Amino acid sequence: MRILIAEDDPVSRRLLEKLLIKSGYEVVSTEDGASAWELLQAPDAPRLALLDWMMPGMDGVDVCREARKRVAGPYIYMLLLTAKDAMIDVIEGLESGADDYLTKPYNVQELKARLRVGKRILELEDNLVAAREVLQFKATHDALTGLWNRAAILDLLQREVPRARRERGSVGILLGDLDYFKSVNDTHGHLAGDEVLRDVAGRLSSAVREYDVIGRYGGEEFLVVMPGCDLATTRERAEHLRAAVGSQPVHCADRVIPVTMSLGALASIGWGPVDVETLLYAVDAALYRAKEAGRNRVELALPGERPAAAPKPTGASVILETGKL
Ligand code: GH3
Ligand code: MG
Ligand code: MG
Ligand code: MG
Repeated sequence: MRILIAEDDPVSRRLLEKLLIKSGYEVVSTEDGASAWELLQAPDAPRLALLDWMMPGMDGVDVCREARKRVAGPYIYMLLLTAKDAMIDVIEGLESGADDYLTKPYNVQELKARLRVGKRILELEDNLVAAREVLQFKATHDALTGLWNRAAILDLLQREVPRARRERGSVGILLGDLDYFKSVNDTHGHLAGDEVLRDVAGRLSSAVREYDVIGRYGGEEFLVVMPGCDLATTRERAEHLRAAVGSQPVHCADRVIPVTMSLGALASIGWGPVDVETLLYAVDAALYRAKEAGRNRVELALPGERPAAAPKPTGASVILETGKL
């Protein structure tokens, strides 16, 4: 583990360096508070710090205060090492944000033990951060396909549409639905159906541009959000995805399963200040037309032909359920 030593007295600093290197730490050392604070803010900075209180310029307590003001960045465990041993100093040191406090002259075994406490706390924090990241991923991604889940993709759409409007740009929206997917399940079984969904998700992911976003909108429905796409590009991208899904059958165990996708497509430009729900409704209606017209095709939704209150066509709910990412 890396540790920062800030100590202005060269002899004490050298002693600490030797001791901690011998104890297995990777040591970064400095002689004043300002450079200590700079080192602690660097990318990949040490997260364990042993700070002398009294140093010229910015002192150890100042470093603690600055570190605790910071909201971003990983937690830094800071141990103040000082000759100030009055109770009032101990309290001020801890109140400044230090995690621990040790007075000089220090006992070597005690210093090592207290640093091990710091290490333990940091490891605990790492585990919590990792667990939180896993939870965050699970809350925003679909377990079967690994794509963004419905709430996450809708959240993204809710942000992209107003952004495109502000920047007088356009966002392309595609809603794709696999054709006759029920019969895939009926013929090959639900597990093979799952495999097809995973395979299709992979094909879509490989076929979109880097900044396009795909979500699993429903059972076998996929919503694609494509920033910066006007109508012509949206149509082109939709045709590309349709071909990417349908040009090869899915191989699952010893089965060869043909698969195609119908898509509704829409570019937000030209729709005026309508809400996202209206756009989803329109793209869903276009998908319905693609199904009606024979499937494995793309139909565009155009602003002029907004259906007033057609029955909900494909089974894809257009009610927004947004959640925070
Ligand atoms: P259409 O061409 O009109 O879309 O016909 P379809 O059979 O694909 O349409 P429908 O919406 O009636 O059927 C979708 C099917 O998708 C029904 C459901 O059992 C299946 N499905 C939904 N989610 C999953 C899933 O996670 N795994 C599997 N294997 N099947 C799913
Ligand atoms: Mg000093
Ligand atoms: Mg469907
Ligand atoms: Mg379907």
